[in-house]
Amino acid sequence: MSFAELGLSAELLRAVDAQGYTHPTPIQLQAIPAVLLGRDVLAGAQTGTGKTAAFTLPMLQLLNAAQSNGRQRRPRALVLTPTRELAAQVGESVRLYGQNLPLRSLQIFGGVGMGPQVDKLRRGVDILVATPGRLLDHQGQGNVDLGGIEILVLDEADRMLDMGFIHDIRRILKSLPKQRQNLLFSATYSREIEQLATGLLSNPARIEV
Ligand code: AMP
Repeated sequence: MSFAELGLSAELLRAVDAQGYTHPTPIQLQAIPAVLLGRDVLAGAQTGTGKTAAFTLPMLQLLNAAQSNGRQRRPRALVLTPTRELAAQVGESVRLYGQNLPLRSLQIFGGVGMGPQVDKLRRGVDILVATPGRLLDHQGQGNVDLGGIEILVLDEADRMLDMGFIHDIRRILKSLPKQRQNLLFSATYSREIEQLATGLLSNPARIEV
């Protein structure tokens, strides 16, 4: 099965081609159609399986398909990651895969100044890739409004729980609109992950690779 057969648009197929990917990986084969259908997803996948493209490609397609005329300044998709390194990596993937689309993305993580992130938030962003702590700092200062989020991704959710981010995540979830699509990616399953998934996901497509 090819990327084209999964239902990805020409702009995304060109970006995938530019990366030199010839065939979707197993997680991509399962996740991309489910996300494009608008379903919630619970995916068990390790790093190295191609999980980033599995959620990024269909997320970009959905956001681009539903572009409103007037550009909304508020972010429409939020990807939460446990570390700044992963936020940077996912942010770079969003940029690469979205290179032919008019969507703006921003990475938000700690250890660097707030100022440049605030400037970019003010100018308007479609996709936010963030670590929980720094995102809450921005929310606390009124720099970002998450009331327009249509798609939420929790990437490496097990690591976020291991690092003690559950309360931060729950605070962030409270500020999101109830009507949205949720994707949860985790390398391992535990009771805590199941609990989080149960509260977060509605009738998810369950994917194991
Ligand atoms: P990830 O599991 O998202 O960290 O991705 C692991 C690596 O696989 C990254 O370097 C990607 O660029 C690469 N990759 C993702 N999808 C594919 C694909 N379909 N074919 C070849 N490489 C891929």
